[in-house]
Amino acid sequence: MSTSVESFADLGLSESLLKTLAEIGYESPSPIQAECIPILLEGHDLIGMAQTGTGKTAAFALPLMEQIDVKLTKPQALILTPTRELAIQVAEALQSYAKNLPGFHVLPIYGGQSYTIQLKQLSRGAHVIVGTPGRVMDHLERKTLNLDNLKTMVLDEADEMLRMGFIDDVEWILERTPEKHQTALFSATMPEQIRRVAQKYLVEPREIKIKAATATVAAIRQVYWQVSGMHKLDALTRILEVEEDFDAAIIFVRTKTATVELADKLNARGYAAAALNGDLNQQMRERVIEQLKSGALDIVIATDVAARGIDVPRVSHVVNYDIPYDTEAYVHRIGRTGRAGRTGNAILFVAPREIRMLRTIERATRQPIAPLTLPSRADVTNKRVADFKAKVAEVLNAEGLDFFANIVSQIAEEQNIGAEEVAAALAMMAQQGKPLQIAGEDPAPARPASGERRPNSFGERDQSKPRFGDRGDKPRFDDRSGDSRPRFEDKPRRAAPPAGDMVRYRIDVGRDHGVQVKDIVGAIANEAGIESRFIGRIGLYDESSTVELPAGMPAEAANALKRTRVRGVPINLRPDEGRPDMAGERKFKKRT
Ligand code: AMP
Repeated sequence: MSTSVESFADLGLSESLLKTLAEIGYESPSPIQAECIPILLEGHDLIGMAQTGTGKTAAFALPLMEQIDVKLTKPQALILTPTRELAIQVAEALQSYAKNLPGFHVLPIYGGQSYTIQLKQLSRGAHVIVGTPGRVMDHLERKTLNLDNLKTMVLDEADEMLRMGFIDDVEWILERTPEKHQTALFSATMPEQIRRVAQKYLVEPREIKIKAATATVAAIRQVYWQVSGMHKLDALTRILEVEEDFDAAIIFVRTKTATVELADKLNARGYAAAALNGDLNQQMRERVIEQLKSGALDIVIATDVAARGIDVPRVSHVVNYDIPYDTEAYVHRIGRTGRAGRTGNAILFVAPREIRMLRTIERATRQPIAPLTLPSRADVTNKRVADFKAKVAEVLNAEGLDFFANIVSQIAEEQNIGAEEVAAALAMMAQQGKPLQIAGEDPAPARPASGERRPNSFGERDQSKPRFGDRGDKPRFDDRSGDSRPRFEDKPRRAAPPAGDMVRYRIDVGRDHGVQVKDIVGAIANEAGIESRFIGRIGLYDESSTVELPAGMPAEAANALKRTRVRGVPINLRPDEGRPDMAGERKFKKRT
């Protein structure tokens, strides 16, 4: 299978769906989508050999939705799934694709949910039913589900339905569907019984298979982390901080939206990061790559298409933040590191339900991918201490040290303490806002990824998905905390300072409000739509702060920032007329 189809528009989908896909950030079709969508739109039956993570849901959902007559409030498509989790997930996917299809209604029905609720929902009329075989059978028997208007039938994860003993139920349902309808069967493997079902119930099906690419680059160290116990963003920053030979990274995500979101979050955490996606014109794209080459950027967050062909020798790491659709994409992605004879590192994040894809990649590339133990808090601390020591050692060789040695002697004498204590105080000062120790707990170790674990039916959730009330992707490492002095942000963002004129503004929140630099960066980036790397120095004081922003701010952004609140306090952004060290602010605390 090739990845040559670049655009959903080439597949024959309607304008309305194309608009939706652009809105939800799908940039280009995955291989299985590129192959299946045209076939299904033409009305053929189809056998798709694909597993979770390949984008198979959209591959059958999008063509199916093109057929739905919203005015007819009867089930026109039935999707059978092995588990209720999958039923819910597929229903959610369909609902998200129906953004621009007013009145569209998809209903998941599964065992364990009350019949009363389901009956009420069924009687209201749904266009698509996504259900587990047993419960669908029940409703057909009770005549509470009527398939007379069925146009499409999908068997999702057919081999799993077989494995779980539902195959007879599936056949029972297939026997009772109207003669004329389209059937699509998706399965990761093709056991004999599934093949038999396909032969019996599908009419001249086209068969689509994801090709397993072989060959990979030997010089690349490949590891994976099974997502659990910690949000991906937190895990990512921990890993990047501790990785030995980190120089620059390309991080792969699936959607355009995710490139931008992750770039903003990494910027807020002090990384020089930028998004690279299909929305960027050629000139902008080249600029990002140039910045990555020159070191103005350390991290680029990209989609597959946008990153194609990037050749930047300093890329020491590729992170598959979202697992790729197939092994071919994996091989392309990791080929962005280990260039020009250097060694490279490929890190793969795998959600529990994507373990099967991990094994497929290992098989196709004929290389084991080793599990990565997430660095502990102690690991991060040790690395920070080592870096700190190295920095101090560097300064020991610098000129003009005598002048400072003299000051240290004076302090020691005046305070009647040893030089070691003075050094400790100075070290603490030097680390203001960049603590050597990180806050928070270490997560419990992940369960081994040996089995092909599926989301189970006992309320266990995929840790990669935030749950209502979760901390979401909020920075967890309080990496600029512990501040007790007025200070300017001491270069937490490793990016070169923004080019062009900057204007200093004052805002009415400061340390006394419990505000940290990252809160200000986050609020301004979000409210004014300014990428955080364009936010200049931030001076944090007790009752107020200063922030440098690019000159020529549009009125709309300025207005938004006037109303913005940080920690519940209106910031009242205005040009700063005073000196940065305003009178009335508390200066260094006196020792008493
Ligand atoms: P699936 O294999 O259907 O479970 O899909 C896996 C994930 O990929 C889901 O989170 C989808 O939203 C996402 N996805 C599917 N197709 C695309 C696409 N063309 N572009 C970006 N993300 C996609």
